Amino acid sequence: MPGNLTLPIIKRAQAQQQRPALIDAQSEYSYAQLLGAAQLIAASLLGDRRDLQEARIAFMVPPGFDYVAAQWGIWLAGGIAVPLCISHPLPEVEYVTEDSGAEIIIAHPVFQEKLQGLAERKRIHFVLTTEALQAEPVELPDISEDRRAMILYTSGTTSRPKGVVNTHRNITSQITTLIEAWGWMAEDRILHVLPLHHTHGIINALLCPLWAGAVCEMLPQFDAGVVWERFMRGNITVFMAVPTVYIKLIEFWENAAPEEQKKMSQACAKMRLMVSGSAALPVSVFEKWKAISGHALLERYGMTEIGMAISNPLHGERRPGYIGFPLPRVQIRLMDESGSEVKDEGAPGEIQVKGPNVFLEYWRRPEATQEAFVEDWFRSGDVAVVENGYYRILGRSSVDIIKTGGYKVSALEIEEILRGHPCIKECAVVGVEDAEWGERVCAAITLQNNAVLDLEELRRWAKKKMAVYKIPSRLAAVEELPRNAMGKVTKPEVKVLFQE
Ligand code: AMP
Repeated sequence: MPGNLTLPIIKRAQAQQQRPALIDAQSEYSYAQLLGAAQLIAASLLGDRRDLQEARIAFMVPPGFDYVAAQWGIWLAGGIAVPLCISHPLPEVEYVTEDSGAEIIIAHPVFQEKLQGLAERKRIHFVLTTEALQAEPVELPDISEDRRAMILYTSGTTSRPKGVVNTHRNITSQITTLIEAWGWMAEDRILHVLPLHHTHGIINALLCPLWAGAVCEMLPQFDAGVVWERFMRGNITVFMAVPTVYIKLIEFWENAAPEEQKKMSQACAKMRLMVSGSAALPVSVFEKWKAISGHALLERYGMTEIGMAISNPLHGERRPGYIGFPLPRVQIRLMDESGSEVKDEGAPGEIQVKGPNVFLEYWRRPEATQEAFVEDWFRSGDVAVVENGYYRILGRSSVDIIKTGGYKVSALEIEEILRGHPCIKECAVVGVEDAEWGERVCAAITLQNNAVLDLEELRRWAKKKMAVYKIPSRLAAVEELPRNAMGKVTKPEVKVLFQE
């Protein structure tokens, strides 16, 4: 491979070229194939340039070989990778490309129709993965580990989603911590079902196995039946998901015939590690999953800004309802409201984090970056206690951030949108505890005088508008509203619960 390969993840891949790296719906690929494809994408992005010099390259590629080739290609060319969520509607995609100042959009042909018009309108250079893979190899630049590598968008309380910038060094640190703590090895094979615009899916479930020389088998999306079927075919050693996914797997198991259930449970017994995170794992789910699979789920705590920070142990007691203790090289302190460090067991404090894993900055938001730190400790906004040495999350210090299905959603943003409805006078949005989703998004609404609101219509309207703010398609009111004979919701005070 030409050029100086300075990036650790690339060097790791080079050391295991002949091993299988990835399996997707199309085929199986070696590390050598991955490096070869990444190199061509890098060449295509570079064109006449020698180094992209941190140009932002947005990309929308389904889970699989081309996704990793694009990510690594951007890195090899010296760009910053900005993964776009494949299920986001256009306005959200437009926001991310604009906010990041993307210079190029790389798209898999399945997304050409969705993105080409946007790229033309915004005068962003548009490249298809299929075209990029036809490029001629060129000399690649040296990339320092201190350069910016990736921007992931995450919801905040006061503004639109912010871009979290991680350097190559941050990413390496986030990976190696987990390699060590969770005992990743070349013999591992993970079944990947997570979104690839979020830290969980990118760092924990994709880059960790690729660092270890393991195999990452990627499904296009989560489907409980497909996951169970794949478990039963054998040789998967690691699985990671958000609690909502485990709940869906449990439901599927419960609806299966006893014979099938037995086979499903036996399939789990052969696996090495099952991890849950990105939202609190209810103790009842921990217990049920243990009864079904024999696995005590390893619950961990992390954030887009810091990767993983606190984890239950690989060996040793995994305590239900607890997130464990600080990971290697990650410093944690709990701070009370007066700004003093909490030393007593059982006393609550905000989790603050320091270490090479902590992100560089919020993209083009120096004030928000400054506010996120005290001295050089990152303020997570999560409140926790320590009990018998194990950390336990009490909740977020800001009620305006709702965690639903593992995603962060800003209550204030949803309120803003709802207020745009002609019938709505006022509204307040909060998270409501829910066993399946962690939290549901709940909106209390006051109607304009004499306004009538048809619930179905509100749902349809909200669905269109709110997809922009990560309240995707499956919108359902879980509370029946008072209606008149015509089926119209007439009471001035209505309460609607939205569900992701
Ligand atoms: P994100 O940046 O989308 O990964 O969201 C990070 C947030 O998810 C954290 O600040 C926590 O509020 C929440 N979170 C992550 N892991 C856990 C966990 N194991 N238990 C409770 N909350 C969690």
